[in-house]
Amino acid sequence: MKVFYSVSEFRSWENQLPVIFVPTMGALHEGHASLMRAARRPGFASVVSIFVNPTQFGPNEDFSKYPRTLDADLEVCRQHGVDAVLVPEVVDIYPVNDATMVKVGGVAEPYEGAFRPSHFDGVATVVLKLFNIVQPAVACFGQKDLQQCAVIQQMVRDLAVPVSIEVLPTMREDDGLALSSRNRYLSTESRAKAAYLPHVLKECLRSISQGLDVPKILDSSSQALANNGFEVQYLAWIDPLTFEPQAKFDPRFRLVVAAKFEGVRLIDNIGLQDLDLVSIEKA
Ligand code: AMP
Repeated sequence: MKVFYSVSEFRSWENQLPVIFVPTMGALHEGHASLMRAARRPGFASVVSIFVNPTQFGPNEDFSKYPRTLDADLEVCRQHGVDAVLVPEVVDIYPVNDATMVKVGGVAEPYEGAFRPSHFDGVATVVLKLFNIVQPAVACFGQKDLQQCAVIQQMVRDLAVPVSIEVLPTMREDDGLALSSRNRYLSTESRAKAAYLPHVLKECLRSISQGLDVPKILDSSSQALANNGFEVQYLAWIDPLTFEPQAKFDPRFRLVVAAKFEGVRLIDNIGLQDLDLVSIEKA
C-alpha cells in the first residue's frame, strides 16, 4: 500500500488503473471499512484520503479535538487492501492566500446547513479539491451523511465533475446506533442510552408508513427523545433528492434527525428499506 503525505507525491504515483475513491477524516471505523470494501474491485485502484478538513468545522465545533488516529487508520486501510492513501497537510489543500470556495445552494441550506452554517461550503470545497487531485472514476460516500450525499451529487451535476457518486448503506452497532467517529466522545453510560435515537427513528418511521398523521408523529417522537435527555435540533420527513419536508408517506422519503446527547451531536436517517431488513438493530 502506498502512503502519500503530499499532493505532489500523490501526483507522481504511476497508476494506470481508474480510481475508486473514499474520502474520510480518519478515526476509521466499520462504516469507513464498508466503503473500502465497496471500493475494492478488479480493474480499479482504490484510494482513501485521510484529512480533517478545517473549513467544514464551525468556530465552536470540535476541529482541534477531532480524533486523529493515523497509525491505526493506515492499518485499517492495509487490512482492506487499499492501494493508496493520501494524507495531505492543511497547507497543501488550502494554499496560503487562497481565495476560492465552493458554495452549494438548495439542498445544502436546510437542516444540517441551517444548524452548521458554512459546513457544506467546507465539505463541497474539500471534496472538489480532492476530486481534482485524485481524479477518481467513482467516489463512495456513506448514506449516514444523507444530506452531504445530496450536496455532493448537486455539486457534481452543476459543475460537470467527471465522477460517478455511489452511496452506501449506514453501518450500525449491535444496538442500532450508527457508527460515527464522534461516538467515542460518549461516556460508557451515555453510549448505552444513545441507542434510544435509532429506536425512536424506527418507531416513528413505522407509524408514518402506516399512514398516521406525519406532523403529529414527528412531534411525539421529538417529545419522546427530549424526555430521554436528547436535545433535538431537527426531526423531519424529507424527500432525499430535494431535502424538502413532506407531509405524506412515500417509500422514497426518509426520516432525518440531529440531536445532542450529553453534549455530543448525533445525526442519523432511515428509510423504508431499513425497516424491510426486519431490524436495523444490526447491519
Ligand atoms: P467522515 O470520516 O466522517 O468524513 O466519513 C467519511 C465517509 O464515511 C463519509 O462518506 C461518511 O458518510 C461515511 N460514513 C461515516 N459513518 C458511516 C457509517 N456508519 N456507515 C457508512 N458510512 C459511514
